[in-house]
Amino acid sequence: MTPPTLVRASLNGLCPRCGAKSLFRGPVALARYCSGCGLDFDALDVGDGPAVFLILIVGTIIVVAAVVVDLTYAPAWWVHLVWLPVAILLTMIGLRFGKAILAYQSFRHDSGEGRLVK
Ligand SMILES: [Zn+2]
Repeated sequence: MTPPTLVRASLNGLCPRCGAKSLFRGPVALARYCSGCGLDFDALDVGDGPAVFLILIVGTIIVVAAVVVDLTYAPAWWVHLVWLPVAILLTMIGLRFGKAILAYQSFRHDSGEGRLVK
């Protein structure tokens, strides 16, 4: 059981503890636990962190690209419908990487909710 690096884990959706390809149960949904080592992925709460960054990053990319294409080529209005699938694809790819990175960092640094020390 060799723990993967951050880059390998995020690119391949690997478990941060054992390296099994078990982090996702769907395109962007995290699995509940690792099928290789039993690590509880629910405890690695990644929340909405990746989505917030993706809204800003993907939104900026799409708007800038749409404005540049419109000012350069002045296409018909329906040509801009291409931005919808592009935005969905970029969001799904980004969510996968973002969730994998946050899950990896959460596991490595043993993050969790704050607790009062007794
Ligand atoms: Zn595992």
